[in-house]
Amino acid sequence: MSQTFDLLKNLTESDYYKNANLHIHTNFSDGKLHPSEIIELAIQKNLKYISITDHNTLKAYNHCNNLELGELKIITGVEFDCWYKSNFMHILGYGIDLNNEPLKNLCAKNPNESKLDIIRISTTRKAPEVIKTIKNAGGISVLAHPCCCWNINIKKMITELKSFGLDGVEVYYPYIRHRAVIKFHTIKKVKAIAEELNLLITGGTDCHNDDL
Ligand SMILES: [Zn+2]
Ligand SMILES: [Zn+2]
Repeated sequence: MSQTFDLLKNLTESDYYKNANLHIHTNFSDGKLHPSEIIELAIQKNLKYISITDHNTLKAYNHCNNLELGELKIITGVEFDCWYKSNFMHILGYGIDLNNEPLKNLCAKNPNESKLDIIRISTTRKAPEVIKTIKNAGGISVLAHPCCCWNINIKKMITELKSFGLDGVEVYYPYIRHRAVIKFHTIKKVKAIAEELNLLITGGTDCHNDDL
């Protein structure tokens, strides 16, 4: 298994509430801050692990010259918009090789595909293709904020995604604060599914501002 897999496997619930945030947006997608401002904030907050996961783009990493800054480790990341059957979802990729050509080809061709919801939801990317591409780029794929998935039988859906190679599920996520209205499942339920299916459990605040 990869180094990123081992690292993610060793992070615990308390890490995600104290010193790890693996879901952060910058102004290269629909976030407010520049990557350098995010990194500065992460250092101020004594975080140990962060990942910038912009929608469909790796551009923020052009501004992260160093992925190890003292105590802070930056795990490469991305968040792809995609569809699985009639479900629109977000899949995170961690520890990806930023120079992998098929991965780069899967990214947005213009900035609006990273920034505008209306454009992003009209993507033709399919979840199995996203999972496979992340894997081939040396990365780990994680279903983002599954509590927001518009699917009654989420266990069946996650089981099917696992059959395509999905590695993990985002569980430690501020579901109450974010997307309070669009919430179909509880954290407890998603965590139990992840444990039963032996999937990695990750977390992050999905911050689009300075609330790292
Ligand atoms: Zn998302
Ligand atoms: Zn996000």
